Amino acid sequence: MRAIFIGLIMISCSISGCFGSDSILAEKTGIPGGHAMNCLTSDEFTSMTLHVLYEDGSEPSAIDLLKQRLVEVCDKPDGITIEQKQVDFENTGPWTADKVREQRWDLGDDAMDGNTLNWYFLFPNGKYDDDSVLGVAVDGSTVAIFLDSVADAEGFFGRPSAAEVERSVTVHEAGHLLGLVNLVYTSPYDHEDPSHRGHSKNEDSVMYWAIESTSVGNFIDGDLPTEFDDEDKGDLQGMADGSIEVYDQITN
Ligand SMILES: [Zn+2]
Repeated sequence: MRAIFIGLIMISCSISGCFGSDSILAEKTGIPGGHAMNCLTSDEFTSMTLHVLYEDGSEPSAIDLLKQRLVEVCDKPDGITIEQKQVDFENTGPWTADKVREQRWDLGDDAMDGNTLNWYFLFPNGKYDDDSVLGVAVDGSTVAIFLDSVADAEGFFGRPSAAEVERSVTVHEAGHLLGLVNLVYTSPYDHEDPSHRGHSKNEDSVMYWAIESTSVGNFIDGDLPTEFDDEDKGDLQGMADGSIEVYDQITN
């Protein structure tokens, strides 16, 4: 089952570049969505820290929104904290999923620390090797967002603006860590886009497939979504209350 699942992810990677699955994922780091239940429920982790590692020139602007979206869906009675730190990543040339993982695990701690769940959001300078990709979720607790590419995604006359794209991409990648769409469960709703696996076909959802592409402005008219839609939320609710079976979860 696991082999089949990874195979599917690799296919989706070649289409969208979204999931950095260019190596077999270790048990320790898990797959995107592998810590979904650790976030959605407080059984194991009562608090959460969002670690933001950014390089000079790639300081993020949407972390408060990111926290707000996670507060809305995750059960963390002891709170969600932001820890933001400027770093220098060791990298030359375009980024790959393996390089993102390497830097995150070099600089960061285990995802599971006592009662605290640690998720990492990297904002490196430079671009992904497919430079149409704005963000990637590379394992159970790690995403990277490429603000140099986000700047390129700004539309004519600033519609959408780079800041708007950044807000959507940041929430979108967190959505993958929550397992959206169908990464670690099978939704009772028909909302996954069959042409873009792991993504929503609703352009009003932040999980819409085009959100993490530099051409996002060509696919969405009007404001970019920054929220999970009702079906995304229904999936998360069902996972949390046990009515939807969840697999590939990382446990202590
Ligand atoms: Zn995506």
